[in-house]
Amino acid sequence: MKYIDGFRDPAAAAAFKDKIEAHGKALSELGRTVRIMEVCGSHTMAIARFGIRSLLPDCVDLVSGPGCPVCVTPCGFIDTALELAARGHTIATFGDMLNVPGSDSTLAQARADGASIEVCYSPAHAVELAAANPEKEVIFLAIGFETTIAPVVSIVKEATAKDVSNVSLLTAFKLVPPALDALLTDEEMEIDAFLCPAHVSAIIGANAYLPVVENYGKTCIVAGFEPLDIMMGIERIMELAIEGTPVCENQYARVVTDEGNSIARKLMYDFLEPCDSYWRGVGVIPASGLTLKNEYAPYDAEKKFGVTIETGREHKGCLCGSVIKGSHKPDQCAFFGKDCTPDSAIGPCMVSAEGTCAAYYKYLRAL
Ligand code: SF4
Repeated sequence: MKYIDGFRDPAAAAAFKDKIEAHGKALSELGRTVRIMEVCGSHTMAIARFGIRSLLPDCVDLVSGPGCPVCVTPCGFIDTALELAARGHTIATFGDMLNVPGSDSTLAQARADGASIEVCYSPAHAVELAAANPEKEVIFLAIGFETTIAPVVSIVKEATAKDVSNVSLLTAFKLVPPALDALLTDEEMEIDAFLCPAHVSAIIGANAYLPVVENYGKTCIVAGFEPLDIMMGIERIMELAIEGTPVCENQYARVVTDEGNSIARKLMYDFLEPCDSYWRGVGVIPASGLTLKNEYAPYDAEKKFGVTIETGREHKGCLCGSVIKGSHKPDQCAFFGKDCTPDSAIGPCMVSAEGTCAAYYKYLRAL
């Protein structure tokens, strides 16, 4: 007997496709278009992988937003990590940062040249590394959205508890709701609705998007990662556009609650406080980052080693900033698929497993 995954059921997919087509006709008759932004790198990958754009009528424009944490981190962050590595310190990182270009080089190149760059499989690994090498300073590259901030900051909790003083964090944490505000106040973007990030929403809760509806009159739908989740989210956004009634809805209730994960948020805010933060492509967004509180300065690599994360120098001609913001598509970049491929990436959007350029290259490029 043929197994049919409930989240990929062909009959249900066909029914959603029909509804999307019908809504498309209705929107066209009303003379309306709908611009939807997906704000999650995993959504970007799933949309490309399952060919969901090909199911949408011309009146729906689905654009990718700043949902890949590696992509939005400025290349100056890599420059600072390289500077610390050049001083003889150990850089501990998840593997996805190794090939991200800094202004002039990458961590992978530095490692090949003899720098101490260690790939960690969990934040706890960084504390173990520091405890096992007390003569070394271990600096963990702490980037990411709400999804991963709590486990990463647990490094400080664990180091404090175990009295490990030679580990620290180089932080570039990012918060999603302030980024949505910034995108909505950017007149160039003209976004009608957000397909909200599922993992982030598991932490901040679906209610975190209510201000987007109240302040901007834009629809927010929290959707999962299966093809049917995404089709259902888009179908609902189109239906609401026809009705003209923006709402915040949680269609991923099997994982996301309205309130989110208060334990993870408490851990975050026990150690961190809001700060302004630079997002590649968008610029500095007020209160869109988190930095260690002053009382944890001994674990803050910028303060401990007297370094500052600058914006850095991006590769001339790379459109990552515009791709991240959703104002350009990857194939509008002259380097796409030619000088820039996953094996020889120029920008972070092609390096990251959640990058928009990587998604287009893997699933949508004309062969
Ligand atoms: Fe940057 Fe490469 Fe994407 Fe162009 S194709 S925007 S160079 S990552």
